Amino acid sequence: MRIGLFGGTFNPIHLGHLRAVQEVQEAFNMDKCYLIPAAIPPHKKQIGIASAEDRFEMVKLATSDSPNFIVSDVELKRSGPSYTIDTVIYYQSILPKATQLYLIVGIDSFLQIEIWKFYPDLFSHIAFIVMARPGPRGKQIFSNRQVLENFMKSRISADYRFSIAQNCFMHPEKQAVYICDVSLLDISSTKIRRLIKDGRSIKFLVPEKVEEFIKTKGLYL
Ligand code: ATP
Repeated sequence: MRIGLFGGTFNPIHLGHLRAVQEVQEAFNMDKCYLIPAAIPPHKKQIGIASAEDRFEMVKLATSDSPNFIVSDVELKRSGPSYTIDTVIYYQSILPKATQLYLIVGIDSFLQIEIWKFYPDLFSHIAFIVMARPGPRGKQIFSNRQVLENFMKSRISADYRFSIAQNCFMHPEKQAVYICDVSLLDISSTKIRRLIKDGRSIKFLVPEKVEEFIKTKGLYL
């Protein structure tokens, strides 16, 4: 079994998240992907964050027609900040030993991994799939392999080597870090919250059911 773990604040979930994880799932032939909303995201300002229950509900609505996406409440059930290392260890403890697990992250988050709790351990525990994402003001720097290569070698371990054949960084002891060049959709939750505040439409940026939920609940006004 191949399984992806895709965590996020999902405040709210949008088509950038969904399309990217869909493409990753297909590219890596995954049996399923867990979408894992953070209860208390450790690295985001807590102001302007919808309740964990509402964010969880929106992820459920967004994926209700996608049987291979499973929305996980594991971080909602845990108290304290939602650390990825705890979630990875949890899934490794409940899934069969032969499961190939991947941690799916956008490159913007990946480049900030040094602020994650016990981040060096993550590279020993689980393979990463790093998704391309448009950079600030539409610059495509985040899809640049060189950016990732410099970062991996200077900050994670000099022994990571890029394998062209496998499109990933390999290491003699640590887990692989794959690159997945998903469609670059310049959509962020920040953009969606800003549009709502400005009284503008978010149609076609989030699934319809999510748009309705946000309206009904009066979120992000
Ligand atoms: P915000 O704008 O509030 O910071 P966000 O849009 O970045 O939020 P998160 O929930 O923080 O969304 O992201 C969860 C994960 O999804 C992160 O790994 C992030 O890099 C990735 N991600 C978010 N949007 C995209 C996108 N458009 N394309 C690819 N990956 C994305």
